[in-house]
Amino acid sequence: MTKINENYLNLQGSYLFAEIARRVASFKNDNPEAKIIKLGIGDVTKPLPGAVIESLHGAVDEMAKEETFRGYGPEQGYNFLTQKIIDFDYTPKGIQLDLDEIFISDGAKSDTGNIQEIFSVDSTIAVTDPVYPAYIDGNVMAGRTGKINEQGKFEKITYIPCTAENNFIPQLPDEKVDMIYLCFPNNPTGTTVSREELKKWVEYAKKNQAVILYDAAYEAFIQEEDVPHSIYEIEGAKEVAIEFRSFSKVAGFTGTRCGFTVVPKEVMGYTSEGDAYPLNKLWNRRQTTKFNGVPYIIQRGAEAVYTEAGQKQVKALIDYYMANAKMIKEGLESIGIKTFGGVNAPYIWLKTPEGMDSWAFFDKLLTEVHIVGTPGVGFGPSGEGYFRLTAFGNREATEEAIERIKNQLKL
Ligand SMILES: *Cc1c(COP(=O)(O)O)cnc(C)c1O
Repeated sequence: MTKINENYLNLQGSYLFAEIARRVASFKNDNPEAKIIKLGIGDVTKPLPGAVIESLHGAVDEMAKEETFRGYGPEQGYNFLTQKIIDFDYTPKGIQLDLDEIFISDGAKSDTGNIQEIFSVDSTIAVTDPVYPAYIDGNVMAGRTGKINEQGKFEKITYIPCTAENNFIPQLPDEKVDMIYLCFPNNPTGTTVSREELKKWVEYAKKNQAVILYDAAYEAFIQEEDVPHSIYEIEGAKEVAIEFRSFSKVAGFTGTRCGFTVVPKEVMGYTSEGDAYPLNKLWNRRQTTKFNGVPYIIQRGAEAVYTEAGQKQVKALIDYYMANAKMIKEGLESIGIKTFGGVNAPYIWLKTPEGMDSWAFFDKLLTEVHIVGTPGVGFGPSGEGYFRLTAFGNREATEEAIERIKNQLKL
């Protein structure tokens, strides 16, 4: 008898988007003429930048000739891309990294989900609440979390509430935890954290021999000067933090697939005897065994993000989405809805009016103005009473959505 990994049976996951789809389908069925606008899902809508397309074409042609054809590449990624990442994303911020500290991957979802494999099953976990689901689910599959309780919390996870009450700033846990997932600018709340606050986490991690798993997938959307782009801007963070980045949102790579993970050689885990062991070595071993690298063609596409033309085009994309964010935020505020985020991230996190719960507001928005968003409670218990709208729609649809909310929503 082949027994299954029963940890999978503890997964919650698919409920949120399945339930959204079910409610939308049922509404459509009853109102076939309604023109529904979706501001729910976190996917981009604009095509890849021209510089990326050009580079992809060039790489395809290289694959057509024996002299330039490439087979298996380095699992860690090609140096042509890694070097650009160092030169553009880190060196200008005063962060020194070596080529072998960066691992090119097929995206931050895989890496934030897989990274837990290099830690012991009895490591304890802290996540901010609400949270991007991939961090938790990888740990559930590995059997690190226990079962979920009636409040929607896994027994063995420490949840760190991030709500309007604490200005969305995560407070250090009272107990000692080992693996700490942080994401800034945050999905789903769109909020950021200051250097001073991040410094507290780096100090906590040092003191407790913990590791911070820092998801910076939205760093390119940061508009304000004093917001940190990388956790390595904090002194000493290279000893305690792994950082995840992605080309998905910044350059439209959600369907093309490329990201990277930084594992500095200084960052350590510990054996049961208490001896320090470099996580870089473990992640390298994990990737070379289970991953065969991102396609050469795709890495050439990502490289083009760092050309002069690529940088301009990517900035234009970000400006486009952030103008949507501004419009959504101002539109909601103008009718008295309290919003958060939307300034350094393409997400607007709103407080549902009149104390409505997240799903009640979902239904109200769908039935009254035919707009689909995401109920905050779907991202964790502390998301109850909040709702997420994304700025990734096209301009016209976003404008129409805001007009409808302003003029037709019955508040
Ligand atoms: C979209 C997103 C990512 C990026 O995922 P990819 O797998 O690189 O497409 C990572 N983290 C968060 C929080 C996200 O919202």
